Amino acid sequence: MNNLDLEGRGAVVTGSTSGIGLDIARALAAAGANVMLNGFGDRDDIEAIRRALADENGITVGYSGADLSDGDAATGLIAEAEAAIGTVDILVNNAGIQHVAPVDEFAAAKWEAIIAINLSSAFYTTAAALPGMKAREFGRVVNIASAHGLVASPFKSAYVAAKHGLVGLTKTVALEVAQTPITCNAICPGFVQTPLVDGQIDDQAKAHGLSRDDVIRDIILESQPSKRFVESAHISDLALFLCGPAGGSITGAALSIDGGWTAR
Ligand code: NAD
Repeated sequence: MNNLDLEGRGAVVTGSTSGIGLDIARALAAAGANVMLNGFGDRDDIEAIRRALADENGITVGYSGADLSDGDAATGLIAEAEAAIGTVDILVNNAGIQHVAPVDEFAAAKWEAIIAINLSSAFYTTAAALPGMKAREFGRVVNIASAHGLVASPFKSAYVAAKHGLVGLTKTVALEVAQTPITCNAICPGFVQTPLVDGQIDDQAKAHGLSRDDVIRDIILESQPSKRFVESAHISDLALFLCGPAGGSITGAALSIDGGWTAR
């Protein structure tokens, strides 16, 4: 879906060095937006991604290694982006981590990190980006939540709490800016095969003495009626749609893209 013209718009995608965030950054870049990348990884690999995106699309692409577990760094990312790409008209809060353990064995540091990265960072970036969006009378905030923003699974207390919180933040921001040309929505994917989920597959295979295929079929996709992973490209197409003109009346929504998971 590359018929959307986002030329001249500036987009920040948090956690865009890998997985879903990188695909969203690629989609926004292909639609002509200048893009600010963020996330961790090998510096040479990230620089190669940055340069390829810029060269292939004739746009400006910046990169910030801001650690979004730190609120000040999350706020600072918006100023860094304004310096690198001009404006922040589109904000995709995508950075996220996972940790799986029973609640009474959940390491406090893991709880704090998940709440900070998966939820609080979106508060800081949104608060920093909104004034510019209001001044320019255009804005799109897209929060990558999860099916776990709508329903729970055991052993994912911090992740489920953070993603439910992110859906709540989405609705509140949407209401606050409802009478402006700014929208705020959450996308709630089911399981997508990315490094984040690959880590879970490996952990479960080890814990239960199963093969990766058994874990995918019997554990990971157990709750996903389609029995297929959600395609990352389908999420970036939806994000792109929300950022374009046709997305202008959609706000405060939690949009499921989960192979039927939350229809149960
Ligand atoms: P991923 O592990 O491939 O990517 C995560 C990104 O976040 C990476 O770029 C990483 O460097 C970055 N990141 C991690 N900690 C960070 C920090 N402290 N500061 C800045 N960046 C940081 O994971 P993914 O599967 O692409 O997940 C992306 C988002 O989608 C997450 O919010 C995740 O919860 C959500 N999600 C994923 C799935 C899935 O099945 N993969 C399903 C639903 C929702």
